[in-house]
Amino acid sequence: MSGKGSLFVVSAPSGTGKTTAVDALVARVPGLERSRSYTSRPPRPSERDGVDYHFVDRARFESMRDAGEFLEWADVFGHLYGTRAIDTRQRLDAGRSLVLVIDVQGARQVRELEPGAVGIFLLPPSPAVLEERLRRRPGDRLTEAEIRRRLSVARREVRHVEEYDYVVVNDALEDCVERLRCIVGAEHQSWRAAGDAARAITASFGEPDGGAAPWR
Ligand code: ADP
Ligand code: 5GP
Repeated sequence: MSGKGSLFVVSAPSGTGKTTAVDALVARVPGLERSRSYTSRPPRPSERDGVDYHFVDRARFESMRDAGEFLEWADVFGHLYGTRAIDTRQRLDAGRSLVLVIDVQGARQVRELEPGAVGIFLLPPSPAVLEERLRRRPGDRLTEAEIRRRLSVARREVRHVEEYDYVVVNDALEDCVERLRCIVGAEHQSWRAAGDAARAITASFGEPDGGAAPWR
């Protein structure tokens, strides 16, 4: 990564609470933003264009994809989703840190292109809790078949948990958000993110056998 901001990738089975947890996280950490994906999925009643997603029709998505505009993209539950490369790059270069909330296929593509990206997998406490959250999600009345499908995809997705750097269980929301905040805080102190500032300080000490202290 050439930018100064850190790139975080959060994946979790649908219904785990990743949108809820990441929204709470970005509200709490200055300089951290959630990336806004493009999708061909129609908006849910509670969703707004440009806030939850950039909603585009399938033809427009495909032409953006074919023009190479996406850092990553995937077909999830029959709809296309993607992260626009230029949006990500501009924010990171401006020193802001970014969270991509994307599925496991997209996360794999980001890992290949941005080896410094930090992967976080959110797990629900159990399959039963996941099912309950899927059923209770407001503004998203899923049919029985859709719930079965999401649970079956979840069974596949959780097998990828070890491809990520961190795993966080979303049991109590506050605890989950606090764990995410700790991961972001630690990453901001990594060599990748804090190295330039640290090197400037160490350089200001001068050479080990350099005689008089240069700061005097
Ligand atoms: P996702 O983005 O992973 O599909 P959402 O953020 O939409 O999931 O959350 C799914 C549902 O679960 C929502 O109704 C949300 O309020 C609820 N939820 C999220 N986190 C928790 C939690 N820690 N405890 C209880 N309910 C939660
Ligand atoms: P939903 O339609 O419920 O908002 O999201 C469905 C799934 O699509 C979730 O697993 C979510 O992480 C994934 N998703 C959302 N945006 C993107 C994206 O830009 N790229 C990829 N690969 N997946 C995405």
